[in-house]
Amino acid sequence: MPLSERSVISRIRRKARSTPLLICGIGDDCAVQRVATGFDVLVTTDFCIEGVHFRREWHSPQVVGRRCLTRGLSDIAAMGGKPVTAFLSLAIPRKLPQKWVDGFVKGLLATAREFKTALAGGDTSESPAGIDADIVVTGYVPRGQAVLRSGARPGDEIYVTGALGGSAAALQEFLAGRRPKPRDFPRHFAPSARVAIGRFLRERRMASSMIDLSDGLSTDLTHICEESGVGAEISAAEIPRARVGRRASPVSLAQALHGGEDYELLFTARAGKRIPARIADVPIGRIGHITGQRRIVLVDENGSRMRLRPQGWEHFR
Ligand code: ADP
Ligand code: MG
Repeated sequence: MPLSERSVISRIRRKARSTPLLICGIGDDCAVQRVATGFDVLVTTDFCIEGVHFRREWHSPQVVGRRCLTRGLSDIAAMGGKPVTAFLSLAIPRKLPQKWVDGFVKGLLATAREFKTALAGGDTSESPAGIDADIVVTGYVPRGQAVLRSGARPGDEIYVTGALGGSAAALQEFLAGRRPKPRDFPRHFAPSARVAIGRFLRERRMASSMIDLSDGLSTDLTHICEESGVGAEISAAEIPRARVGRRASPVSLAQALHGGEDYELLFTARAGKRIPARIADVPIGRIGHITGQRRIVLVDENGSRMRLRPQGWEHFR
């Protein structure tokens, strides 16, 4: 059984750190956060629901805490922003051991510290069924400089950070009744939001549009194309596939194309713009280009072209 609401909050409060822009954090009716003139505020909110985003039998509480905050940090990264505060609304069943809550908060706060983000508030409630965590992350970018999904133009090149499909590969292991080891599937158990890369690209005005890969390449590229009113052509051979398992074998093309929760960045840049081969020690790969036809074409290893439909993660499907 978890401790009382008051004790849960005071335990979280004791462990949370502050940050210079946070004038008043946990403990009052609102957090008070300073906004500097000349900046735009970024706000993102993400659910982390037991049975949908994680399973208690598969994921340790620390892993759930890390993955939960990473969802929000990754959205800030995708705008080219710097995260500042996080807010955690937590609904927990009456019979959940306090140890689980402690582990979850530990994983979340360790991630917050790593990204110099302060847990600045939240809400705590009893849940009639499973664990629900809703995380809000705020951040900022210099005024007018957020990198949007809508900036891609025909002729732009398309890039991704890191390698894709590693998180989905772990999920497939679980669904097949196996127990994937965290060290063999780091992108699933310990994803890291690409905040430094997002900022690097924004500061140098390298990216014309950007999104984080939370639902899968086919779906997230569709979001960029729809918001920008363009299409894309990508090459199967160029898509960097994650290497997973004890033998570090590459994931399947389908996993790299449609697997979600990699939290890598997908961005476009004007043709001729020089993009470094690595940023913040992460390889950057060119996978195709933007077209004027409003569809996504996949060119396979034999040169055949086929239409690529969004087949990544979608709720209610
Ligand atoms: P109120 O009733 O005014 O909303 P609460 O008693 O719910 O205040 O919360 C007291 C303080 O503790 C607030 O600063 C709130 O943001 C913070 N808080 C509550 N739950 C959490 C949580 N799960 N994580 C972080 N901070 C929390
Ligand atoms: Mg409250």
